[in-house]
Amino acid sequence: MSDTLDAIVVGLGAMGSNALAVLARRGKRVLGLDRFDPPHNFGSSHGGSRVIRLSYFEHPDYVPLLKRAYDAFDRLAQDSGETLRIENGLVMGGAPGNAVAAGMLRSARTHDLPVSALDGAELMRRYPQFTVPADWEVVFEARGGFVRPEATIRAALAAAARDGARIERETPIAAWGSDGRTAWVETARGRFEASALILAAGAWMPACTGTRQSGQNPLRLTPTRETLVWIDDEGDPDWHATRMPVWLFDRGNEPAVYGVPAFDLMGAPGGMKVGLHGSGGPVRPEQICEPVEPAIVRKTVQAMQERLRGAAGRRVTGACSCLYTMSKDGHFAVGLHPDHSNVAIAAGFSGHGFKFAPVIGEALADLAIGGETHLPIGFLAPGRLLKNGTF
Ligand SMILES: Cc1cc2nc3c(=O)[nH]c(=O)nc-3n(C[C@H](O)[C@H](O)[C@H](O)COP(=O)(O)OP(=O)(O)OC[C@H]3O[C@@H](n4cnc5c(N)ncnc54)[C@H](O)[C@@H]3O)c2cc1C
Repeated sequence: MSDTLDAIVVGLGAMGSNALAVLARRGKRVLGLDRFDPPHNFGSSHGGSRVIRLSYFEHPDYVPLLKRAYDAFDRLAQDSGETLRIENGLVMGGAPGNAVAAGMLRSARTHDLPVSALDGAELMRRYPQFTVPADWEVVFEARGGFVRPEATIRAALAAAARDGARIERETPIAAWGSDGRTAWVETARGRFEASALILAAGAWMPACTGTRQSGQNPLRLTPTRETLVWIDDEGDPDWHATRMPVWLFDRGNEPAVYGVPAFDLMGAPGGMKVGLHGSGGPVRPEQICEPVEPAIVRKTVQAMQERLRGAAGRRVTGACSCLYTMSKDGHFAVGLHPDHSNVAIAAGFSGHGFKFAPVIGEALADLAIGGETHLPIGFLAPGRLLKNGTF
């Protein structure tokens, strides 16, 4: 098959599984390879839920991609017969002047999105589950909620396979290259060639993006190990997603604390899943298997208890590690490889990429096959992250 493939996708997590599904749907001959057996617990896409929201505080340029991602999640859900997106609302903010609420309002204004700016007192009146200072500034977005990462990846891979994609699990690539017309990968199962290559290896991208000329990690990405903690809801209906929104509270110089309430279909331990955004230190991806640090679990529980009424004493039912891949500016790197016009890169999702997975998959498929995309991803061009502008 070596000279008949249109594209090879390396990494079948959030981005790669969706790129593979889009390519196969378009009738392309494609091969997808993964180091493990996706969906799995060794990368960035496990833990039952990922927050999705429209009024993006990080930058308004993400909003058109998000609108498309919402539709794409719903199409995939319909196609697979699975519930993939839950719209239980979302509240985010913090002390007066916090950048999160300000950024959400900016995106909402720019793209005419319906949100409500509330003070802490009004938030607690609407949702007595929270306890925050009365003068806090928060934003409520009814269309916020969460998506189900493992179910999404499973659905994308099933769609890809149904449309003819070849999928090789437990098959890490050891090397790749391209002469501009043909790209290749080396694996223990042999060498594969295609007209185009997509690199979407998550926290392993530092090792995957380099070329012989550039050495490793030209995009200067840093994997970090983050901790997720599950808290027993003790059957409290006020902690269920039917009554409670997803939440995130800014804590100034400390990592923001967030929580995603359980939903019956989540397939995860349930209760409330909480975390401290970006609190982990740099690691090699393999270190995800090291034991969760009790100190970070304690800090996470404490931060959660400060903001949820009646949370004191509720039991920790589970904890796990998950990998962020941080870029220098916290924005993604999606585009063509600066040295290879037939190699597309998806990297550096910096702890907020999952909600974009189906639309990034579409952009990657466009880039791999046509060398360009009409999707507005120019602001994510990988070249901006290079040290001297070159690989
Ligand atoms: C704790 C936590 C909370 C998060 N919360 C949110 C959130 O609420 N909302 C949100 O939008 N995002 C969130 N994110 C971020 C989001 O989950 C990630 O941005 C996204 O999952 C990254 O997808 P990916 O495809 O780059 O990586 P992955 O899904 O990890 O996929 C990479 C794949 O590449 C494979 N691979 C690696 N090396 C090789 C190789 N050499 N050969 C073959 N295959 C290889 C891996 O096995 C893996 O399957 C969170 C992340 C974490 C860790």
